[in-house]
Amino acid sequence: MSVTLTFLGGAREVTGSCILVQTASNRFLVDCGMFQGGVESDRKNARRMPVPPGSIDFVLSSHAHIDHSGLLPKLVRDGFRGPIHCTPATADLLGVMLPDAGHIQEKESEWQTRKRERGGKAEVPPLYTEADALAVLPALRPVPYGKIVRPGPGVSAAFLDAGHILGSAIVIVTVADDGKEKKTRLLRGPRPPGVADRARPDPRPAGRRPRHRIDLRQPAPQGDGRHGGGVRPCRRRHAPQEEGERRHPVVRRGGGRRTSCTSSPT
Ligand SMILES: [Zn+2]
Repeated sequence: MSVTLTFLGGAREVTGSCILVQTASNRFLVDCGMFQGGVESDRKNARRMPVPPGSIDFVLSSHAHIDHSGLLPKLVRDGFRGPIHCTPATADLLGVMLPDAGHIQEKESEWQTRKRERGGKAEVPPLYTEADALAVLPALRPVPYGKIVRPGPGVSAAFLDAGHILGSAIVIVTVADDGKEKKTRLLRGPRPPGVADRARPDPRPAGRRPRHRIDLRQPAPQGDGRHGGGVRPCRRRHAPQEEGERRHPVVRRGGGRRTSCTSSPT
């Protein structure tokens, strides 16, 4: 049995999060987010799903931010009739945020239409309305953190606390293969960073990071001792990069001489 994932948004960008999952007997979405910002977002929000919304069995919603949930009203308006599983707090937030998003879409449509009328152009319909958003709410199925739900044949899901906004969840989805649940993961879990005092995630997109690795288990170069235990630039050699990215901080162990550094830029 194969499982097909189609990333309909949130890939090479951070908004529009929506993953279409198809198995032998299920078709479902993880998130149904709105594209926000950028010149292409209106076009992407207006485009049709690659499968009929009515053929989607259920939705797993990770959290209420609009870039993860904001196209649910359009999905329901276009024919989706299944349940939307999410945490209780996410259900509460969606009850406020989706109608508000629908109201914003209506006002945006009025403003665009007024502007276009002056040029004799056709009106711009709203992406969806407040009424469309209210129609989503009966489909919400609150699931407490840690509880396993079985939304479709051979599919189980659990919502774990993601520590993001109220109700946000990491959604663990398991698909049975011929009746057996296989523990197959798309990504390995993070490894411990060794002897670093602190580690900062690199905020740059993957393609813009330096092409070198630093083994945090190895001692970093010694400082010159003039600046005590503060944060100081490292003098390791780096691949050529943009000016301003060549140095990164060294975090000195308190009182000691040993140092470690991360690959983050200053
Ligand atoms: Zn978020």
